[in-house]
Amino acid sequence: MKPNYIAGGWKESDKVYRNINPSDTGDCIDTYAAASVADVGSAVAAAKNALDGWSLSTPQQKFTALDFIGTEILARKDELGRLLAREEGKTLPEATGEVVRAGQIFKFFAGEAVRNWGEHISSVRPGVDIDTLRQPVGVVALITPWNFPIAIPAWKVAPALAFGNTVILKPAELTPGSAWALADIVSRSGLPKGAFNLVMGKGSVVGEALVNHPDVAGVSCTGSIGVGRAIAKSCADRLAKVQLEMGGKNPLVVLDDADIDVAVSAAINGAYFSTGQRCTASSRLVVTAGIHDRFVAAMANTMQSLKVDDALAAGTDIGPVADETQLKKNLDYIDIGKKEGAKLLYGGGRLKKIKVGFYMTPALFVETHNAMKINRDEIFGPVASVIRVKDYDEALAAANDTPFGLTSGICTTSLKYASHFKMHAQSGMVMVNLPTAGVDYHVPFGGRKGSSYGSREQGRAAVEFYTTVKTCYTAP
Ligand code: NAD
Repeated sequence: MKPNYIAGGWKESDKVYRNINPSDTGDCIDTYAAASVADVGSAVAAAKNALDGWSLSTPQQKFTALDFIGTEILARKDELGRLLAREEGKTLPEATGEVVRAGQIFKFFAGEAVRNWGEHISSVRPGVDIDTLRQPVGVVALITPWNFPIAIPAWKVAPALAFGNTVILKPAELTPGSAWALADIVSRSGLPKGAFNLVMGKGSVVGEALVNHPDVAGVSCTGSIGVGRAIAKSCADRLAKVQLEMGGKNPLVVLDDADIDVAVSAAINGAYFSTGQRCTASSRLVVTAGIHDRFVAAMANTMQSLKVDDALAAGTDIGPVADETQLKKNLDYIDIGKKEGAKLLYGGGRLKKIKVGFYMTPALFVETHNAMKINRDEIFGPVASVIRVKDYDEALAAANDTPFGLTSGICTTSLKYASHFKMHAQSGMVMVNLPTAGVDYHVPFGGRKGSSYGSREQGRAAVEFYTTVKTCYTAP
């Protein structure tokens, strides 16, 4: 059994749950301790005790711990990549890439720990000096989803620790393995006892206990919009700081003047890689009339060559769906789309392999319109729809007509349209001639509308959530 990590020690539990490989349901990766509400209380108490020591540690101490974590993650990328692919189902190259990203994030925030400076400002009053300091928020709860089981914990834990907060990480129940491996590395990084804690288990038990704990000063959660909304309400009730990254229904606009190969490659990558299980996935392909038929034909042609198989097998393009519930949801949406009058051009069925897993063929709907349920709801699977539009203006309107606003993309060779789209797309991130998914770690990440709430994650923007500003006036 893999135990929780609380107050610098490993703590077992009476209750455990199994981590099942979605490529091969006969393969149980391990069992993991389900934390109790009392365990959450112990973790918060430990984090509170550790706060003074860690927040007042020198920038060099913070750098050294975070750099150690990043170095070990990078050194073990192949092993950790295998574990990630096995528990989540993304392909081995995707999983190894995610592990590398986690290592890079720790290295980046090791540097940020020593660059955490304030400002000295002249007062409008004579004889007074002003300094602004960035100080930690306190004990923070970090609640993460299953689809990036090491990168998202990394992009929350690393800035939280870099800026002197103490941490309780609650990973998704479906993928505790990568978070546990991260905790194991953190446990050897020289952090004081209690500065980092891991509590695994259900959102409705462990997550809720964290969100409602009076000693948790901030909650950063990445997950679905329903969960985000509930967390925002709880945090507002007790005036805790909150940061939410939620779903997406991201449009990729393809204009008549697009390079067709660039457009198809961006759409295939954005819609189907990582089994479409990315908040930044291109689930709406908004295509102008002049290129529509060529684009659709090229998509269907490319989709036939995509190999859906075991995440660990060489040559797999698309791994399985993460679990039975998500697979059922995807297949239900295939039925919904058909009932709404969309035409299923390709895929959308369950696939049987020698090993039992949650496989499905990537699906492409055509002849859809933006008001259809399949174009409103986040499906979170390898399902995309083509929405035919007359021209750029109609494309922009359709792209923005969504309750979400995480990322949006355009494929065009026109500087005029690319520039206009960058200005007018109602999303937090815009991609030109690139997939809507795939971001850098040193720049802000986040969205608008129902996709995000609170300040941005990643890059230097992370300082906003993980610190509070103190303004000091001095008459020397
Ligand atoms: P989810 O909302 O079911 O769970 C997310 C986390 O919240 C899990 O750790 C879960 O245990 C916890 N949780 C659930 N109920 C809770 C509660 N009542 N109180 C506290 N915590 C609770 O999401 P998921 O299925 O794990 O992940 C998929 C979702 O995450 C998708 O909607 C996807 O778009 C989103 N996502 C967003 C981003 C982003 O950065 N915008 C990135 C990745 C995934």
